[in-house]
Amino acid sequence: MVRGLGPRVEGAVLHEVQAVDRVLEAELARVRTPTKVHSLRRRGKFVLLHTDGGQTVVVHPRMTGRLMWGMPSDDARVRVVWRLSTGTMVLVDQRRLATVCVVEGSAVELPLGPEALDELGWLDEKLSCSRMPVKVWLMDQRKIAGIGNIYASEICFRVGIDPRRPADSLGDDECLRLRAAIPAVLGEAIDQQGTTLSDNGYCGPGGERGRFAAELSVYGRQGAPCLRCGGTVLRCVQCGRSTFFCPACQR
Ligand SMILES: [Zn+2]
Repeated sequence: MVRGLGPRVEGAVLHEVQAVDRVLEAELARVRTPTKVHSLRRRGKFVLLHTDGGQTVVVHPRMTGRLMWGMPSDDARVRVVWRLSTGTMVLVDQRRLATVCVVEGSAVELPLGPEALDELGWLDEKLSCSRMPVKVWLMDQRKIAGIGNIYASEICFRVGIDPRRPADSLGDDECLRLRAAIPAVLGEAIDQQGTTLSDNGYCGPGGERGRFAAELSVYGRQGAPCLRCGGTVLRCVQCGRSTFFCPACQR
């Protein structure tokens, strides 16, 4: 979502940050305006807005929050409005799960592992130290940042590993395939502007629906034939989140 917003926001003058949700009022009152927006960056699941005034606004959209350009036309719950010289950016968040905090300085300490889209040479060793189910491990942002629930299922399917297997049970070949599958799946998702599904409310910066949903190989397909072997896709729940997999070709 940052890729579409960045060019509109970076370099613009931020005139005001308005907390529509009063819960965020005190925190956002700390932002010194007017100021220029230095950069807007994604870091794992967090979005960092750095100002030339030396502050960073950290947004954690969590399950239902999303940053959008312009006021939404529907009844989406707007929680924060950024008034910029170039237009308006909003945080909409139906279930009010998103968090926002203001940090002095630009070096923000986030509880995040290395980025999933960066070099993954360290992955094999870290996996070998954990007994966590591999899909749960992939979603643990402290271990690797930026893999959501949908993509964790898709990655396991692409590698051909059972998402319930302990991370430390993966062989060298499987780790190698995993290192290739992570950037491949995430890269395709970014190209398709994310995935829009009824349960996660994700939309691009202009509210456009992502096209990746049509490209999903296994997620949301329980009971349907596996695209690879024709077997039946199953669903299970891991840490409260749905996992989809083919028991025949994911071992
Ligand atoms: Zn299969």
